[in-house]
Amino acid sequence: MKKLNPDEIDDARASTLAAEGVLFDRAKLNAMLEDLASSPAPEIPTRPQAMCYAIALPPRSESSFEYVCKTCGTHTFYKRDWRNTEGLLAELREGAVSLRAMGLDISLDESALCCKCRSAKDLDIPSSCKVVKVKEPAPLPWFKRLLQSVLPSSPPQGFQVGDIVAIKDFGNNRRCFYVAPIHPAYWIKSKDISDNGKVTSFGAFLYCQPREDDIIHANVSVGMCLKILPAKPGDPKGWVQVERPSSCSGSDDFADYSIGIDKEFLGDFSYDEPEPSSSRLGMIDWVINGRRIEAKTRDIDIMQSFLKGDRLRCPPNSSSVYPLKEELLRLEELFGTSKET
Ligand SMILES: [Zn+2]
Repeated sequence: MKKLNPDEIDDARASTLAAEGVLFDRAKLNAMLEDLASSPAPEIPTRPQAMCYAIALPPRSESSFEYVCKTCGTHTFYKRDWRNTEGLLAELREGAVSLRAMGLDISLDESALCCKCRSAKDLDIPSSCKVVKVKEPAPLPWFKRLLQSVLPSSPPQGFQVGDIVAIKDFGNNRRCFYVAPIHPAYWIKSKDISDNGKVTSFGAFLYCQPREDDIIHANVSVGMCLKILPAKPGDPKGWVQVERPSSCSGSDDFADYSIGIDKEFLGDFSYDEPEPSSSRLGMIDWVINGRRIEAKTRDIDIMQSFLKGDRLRCPPNSSSVYPLKEELLRLEELFGTSKET
């Protein structure tokens, strides 16, 4: 989890958002949580209730995203908006406003999206590192080839101790780091694509290199349109190289491929940030009664139901109803339990 503590919260920012009267302090929330935990499971209505109506999802944003900081006005440009942060942010902001109106001391801390307000070091987002140990036994052949395409200057056998590698992103558990290719290639078998670039086979894949045993970028669906790149001398028979399919993919599957490297092989992290890290897009936090926790859009509805005293929950865009008690764990995470204080 993030190495942040509530003391770091910008008071000015928090107070502009959470100035209204607070009805639900820690004690009250704890009592309500205990009450929910001990309440019997309510009866589930057989038919969806009238209040369960579908809410339109926010429109999907373009593949890039420009964040304008509310505090300092700085524009931070993200090449790829892998989380649809634009839509997400609008939803989270609205959610915070409505929950505050219900009497909860909640604000949204979106400062991680601003490169000026929060440095890469503040957020523990390294951009490069030094290899301190190499994997034994030797990497698989595809791994070696990939390393060469990722790091053209690296020796053919892959990483050596002392090499500096670029870190693209990191996984959720932050134990694993990734290096990304500088110029990713996208190959498809020619039998899977028509001359005008339409995918014709079910179960077709885009490969990083024109080899069946190579890494797969993503699977592509029938009818999808891809832009075929002009063939070059030496291109292997039976393969076609295409452009990165961003415009018609409608999916985030086409992220540049990357290789996970376990942290134990890396050392001397550098926190320079040549361009805003996409990791920032996953770092929007709620600040609830002074506690910070990663914000998820589904929290809004859960918290609203809880504060209203509902015992049943009907998520937006769903006709199903289920006991709110099933969200007890998340509610305890959001509000903090009495054991924590
Ligand atoms: Zn800022």
